[in-house]
Amino acid sequence: PDPHGMYTLLAHLAVPDLADWCLVDALEQGNWVSRVAVACLDPTQQERAAALPQRMERRDDAPVGLLRVLRTGEPELVPAVTDSLLRAAAAEPAHPALLRTLQARSYMIIPLRARGNTLGAVTFVASGSGRRYGPDDLALAEDLCLRASLAIDNARLVGESRRAARAREDLLAVVSHDLKNPLGVVQLGSALLLRGPGARPGGEMVAKQATRIQDATDRMSRLISDLLDWGRLEAGGLPLELGEHSMTALVTEAMDAIRPLAEAKGLHLHTRSTEDDVRAKCDRTRVLQVLGNLLGNAVKFTPPGGDLEAGVSVLNGEVCIHVRDTGSGIDPEALPHIFDRYWQARDAASRGTGLGLAIAKGLVEAHGGHIHARSTKGEGSTFSFTLPLTGVSTAPHSSASRARLDA
Ligand code: ADP
Repeated sequence: PDPHGMYTLLAHLAVPDLADWCLVDALEQGNWVSRVAVACLDPTQQERAAALPQRMERRDDAPVGLLRVLRTGEPELVPAVTDSLLRAAAAEPAHPALLRTLQARSYMIIPLRARGNTLGAVTFVASGSGRRYGPDDLALAEDLCLRASLAIDNARLVGESRRAARAREDLLAVVSHDLKNPLGVVQLGSALLLRGPGARPGGEMVAKQATRIQDATDRMSRLISDLLDWGRLEAGGLPLELGEHSMTALVTEAMDAIRPLAEAKGLHLHTRSTEDDVRAKCDRTRVLQVLGNLLGNAVKFTPPGGDLEAGVSVLNGEVCIHVRDTGSGIDPEALPHIFDRYWQARDAASRGTGLGLAIAKGLVEAHGGHIHARSTKGEGSTFSFTLPLTGVSTAPHSSASRARLDA
């Protein structure tokens, strides 16, 4: 939606049914008014239309005409343009000059207003047709302008929010790049401390502090990546590198990556897939990121001794990947919000950004899939997401494993 398209549409809607000439003016930044659309009935008048002034300064003392309508927000209806009207307008010479150029016999000027602001105004002029505007025409024109105002306002808002999203993405990109470099230096420094002085006899204190520095920098670098991904997703500019990949292999890879952390916490890992090999079209790195996020949460929210399961199945022509845990579960009131950005359970002991699941959802949806969660408080949670299926090869034992999964 582009306000300029709306202006042009509006002008062309008015001619010829409502006017011989239709001019649309929009308020710009500062004190300027720009002519954003002109339509005229008589094609031989095009030249005259092109010669009209394109821009004028707002004035607070205009007694009649466009500038008065813009100032007051009130429409102006003139059934017949008379000499006395032209004289009255002499204080603001642009108006009578315009009326003369257009050979106006009758006119109405309606403000474009939305959310209490005047956005501009539409001038309907009757010339050659000899029509005279009355209250009925005014009502009709006001109705048209009201609808147009809403559409224009919407288009402006959409444009503004897109621009804002893009500006934020640019900022995030700069910030994250500039933060990542010094962070890399700190990470390297702490690794050197850990291996050098920290590894020598009596170096426990150094090792302990270096480990803390490393943990903190790891969290910072995850945070930066999250913010960056989120900014790109919101601006709709996260590029996917699509390829055909085995989901079974991706799940195994993600499970292997989380294994040290999970086992350190005393969790039991299980991989359960109903098919031997399921292939989907996806961005490998991004799917691993989603899986890493879901598995990371599962580890974070499952107490020692619990079970963590991940697997792939095929459902209704889609690949379905699930991550199940026997952890704390999620409150029923909280469940509908967990994919919202920045959302975290109030009692969450997590030190995340609350962006993890929002990003996971964005990534899955960018692939044309969907993600959802089921959970019973105190018993555990299951997150599953879908991806477009490209191929399946069924394992001989698949019915057995399916039975196990259903149990
Ligand atoms: P964060 O990065 O802060 O963990 P997420 O978006 O990944 O943010 O998760 C949002 C919230 O959802 C978490 O703070 C937690 O309350 C809840 N949550 C996510 N996964 C699980 C899970 N497997 N078990 C219980 N709660 C979870």
